[in-house]
Amino acid sequence: MILNKNKLLANNDLALLFIRVAVSMSMIIVHGFKKVIDIHGTIEHIPDPLGIGNTASAIISIIANIVAPVFVILGYKARLATIPTLGVTLTGLILVHWGDPLAVRDVPYLYSIVFLFILLAGPGKYSIDNIRFKSPDKKITQLSTVLLTVIVLASCSDKEAMQADLIVKNANIITLDDEIPRASAVAIKEGEIIYVGNEELAEDYKSEETRIIDAQGKMMIPGLNDSHLHHIRGGLNYNLELRWDGVTSIKRALEMLKEQANRTPEGQWVRVVGGWSEFQFEERRLPTLQEINEAVPDKPVFILYLYSLGFMNKAGLEYVGYDSLTSYPGGEIQLDSEGIPTGLLVAKPSALILYSTLVKGPSLTREEQINSTMQYMRELNRLGITSAIDAGGGGQYYPNNYEVAQQLAKEGKLTVRTAYYLFAQKKGKELESFKNWTSQVSPRHNDDLFKPNGYMMHGAGENLTWAAADFENFLEPRPHLGEHMEGELKPIIELLVSKRWPFRIHATYGESIERFLDVFEEVNDSIPFDGLRWIVDHGETVTDQQLERIKNLGGGIAIQNRMAFQGEYFIDRYGAQEASNTPPFSKMIDKGLPVGLGTDGTRVSSYNPWYSIYWLASGKTMGGTQLYPRERLLSRESILKLMTRGSAWFSSEENVKGSIKKGMYADLILLNQDFLSIDDEKIKQMESLLTIVNGKVVFAQNEFSYLDPGVPSAIPKWSPVNYYQSIGGQQKKQIR
Ligand SMILES: [Zn+2]
Repeated sequence: MILNKNKLLANNDLALLFIRVAVSMSMIIVHGFKKVIDIHGTIEHIPDPLGIGNTASAIISIIANIVAPVFVILGYKARLATIPTLGVTLTGLILVHWGDPLAVRDVPYLYSIVFLFILLAGPGKYSIDNIRFKSPDKKITQLSTVLLTVIVLASCSDKEAMQADLIVKNANIITLDDEIPRASAVAIKEGEIIYVGNEELAEDYKSEETRIIDAQGKMMIPGLNDSHLHHIRGGLNYNLELRWDGVTSIKRALEMLKEQANRTPEGQWVRVVGGWSEFQFEERRLPTLQEINEAVPDKPVFILYLYSLGFMNKAGLEYVGYDSLTSYPGGEIQLDSEGIPTGLLVAKPSALILYSTLVKGPSLTREEQINSTMQYMRELNRLGITSAIDAGGGGQYYPNNYEVAQQLAKEGKLTVRTAYYLFAQKKGKELESFKNWTSQVSPRHNDDLFKPNGYMMHGAGENLTWAAADFENFLEPRPHLGEHMEGELKPIIELLVSKRWPFRIHATYGESIERFLDVFEEVNDSIPFDGLRWIVDHGETVTDQQLERIKNLGGGIAIQNRMAFQGEYFIDRYGAQEASNTPPFSKMIDKGLPVGLGTDGTRVSSYNPWYSIYWLASGKTMGGTQLYPRERLLSRESILKLMTRGSAWFSSEENVKGSIKKGMYADLILLNQDFLSIDDEKIKQMESLLTIVNGKVVFAQNEFSYLDPGVPSAIPKWSPVNYYQSIGGQQKKQIR
């Protein structure tokens, strides 16, 4: 009996030695060395969660990750030596990673347990401490045996749980994660990334059921996330729209009108709803009404040009019944010398006339809207979008117009993770709408039955009150907001802050932002924002001082490439000097503000995220005018971060998506070109070859087309979606 007991004690001491050495070595190798040695080309950025400064944080982490573990290995002052390490791992667990999924927190969690155990148990017999003092207490060694067993069992079951569903190997992975910036393999389980690194280690996650995809050396990045898109509305109408996005001549654009008109049945319209400007055409001018009438004499045509103009042919005017007597509040109908409408609609002072004319046309049936939304999400997937934040939009009524996307979410067919904001539709009823909505729904409820955060309402905006809408139309002077704006906005902000509803507000000009900030700060004095997320949308001419005020109130800015479509007009009106700082994206980033990148598609700008990335990478408009000096441009990788990690903040998801990292959602894309090295102009031709959302392939083409799940063809059958590549206007090869 006594012999056995001694044997057990000796085993425990060996076990203690083993765990001291194993865990301390792992701490030193994995977390210590990278803080002092250049492994990935950059020394790891050391976080400063306690706000004590970078140098102090660096010294503490070197002590905790290298010096103290050496003491633990030697068993010299071992209990004392666990304390700095425990301090750092518990800080990581509690301060840095508290809101993260368990899979992210497990590293600091396990380290904390093991070092706590050494603190309790002491170093055991095989230690300098023991030689200098005395042998360990019996009870503590028994306790340590139990704890060791638990940890060993836990790590075994962890290993079993880590069999991947999917491994992508042989990829050139740009992780956008500062800890491991480059990798060649990624392992995925149940929609989450469980490993990022090299091929050999990825093998550990392989089982018989694991699907392996060879990326053939292509570049992989996290899925793109457009932080300001109108894709719910875009989806409801997509099958009806002929898109001129990326078409390079008026000649081709008019041909497309004609071709599509020939297929369009009686009673239907041919419509082009935004996404283009004349500067993309080699002719560098707008089409004329005469050209449009010649191309399509017999079917109604409606063409939307930015927030500025609408073109209608004669058949279109007849359909909507506009004549010499028609007048429009918030818009003009151009008349010829005889007082007859020419077909040109002018947004002056607002775009109301354009949108209210557009809704006079026929819409899709429910069945067609479901199909249309699926086609549109697939198109976004093709361009590398895996997430988008919907900023509401005129005519986008809640809850009715949200039901199609919701139905798809419930059926697991929504392939773009969507967070959406509720937009006040009726003038004079804005506060009432928000009172209703805040009593009926709460932010962040997920309606997607197949993946986390697949479809969730996230807050209010971008229109909070019509009195605050400063439409950007650089063809016209800056609009002045009415005197009563503050009086209408304030009770809405009070309501939203007290209900803890995140909100976003459309704001193009500094003059408007100044007045919004006055309201926000006043509300904050009585009802503190206290970390509530809120967003300035667009912010083209936001000032330095306003950036400071936005930061102090905890806001972020969602920027888009509207200047790429309207930059030439902005320069005409305000000058090239002013344009070179519009929007001041570098200042926003330097100030440490959350900044998300997006497109503001579909009605004004194109929804193609690469046009937005091109705009920042080249500093040019779509027509090639240099807006920003080259020395002020951001690096390609920083631009990608804006449309991934940056945008994730705007739906409170920065801890779950935006980089390729263990514990993050498995939303990934394989690119058709090497984004980091190609010429600026080629960025416009970027596409995804393989798009993975929540660990599932949702789109694949070319060499990866064998993986493509596909979608049914578009309905109605005559939809332009069945006939054209959506970007560039080329005919589709085969029509089912
Ligand atoms: Zn807006």
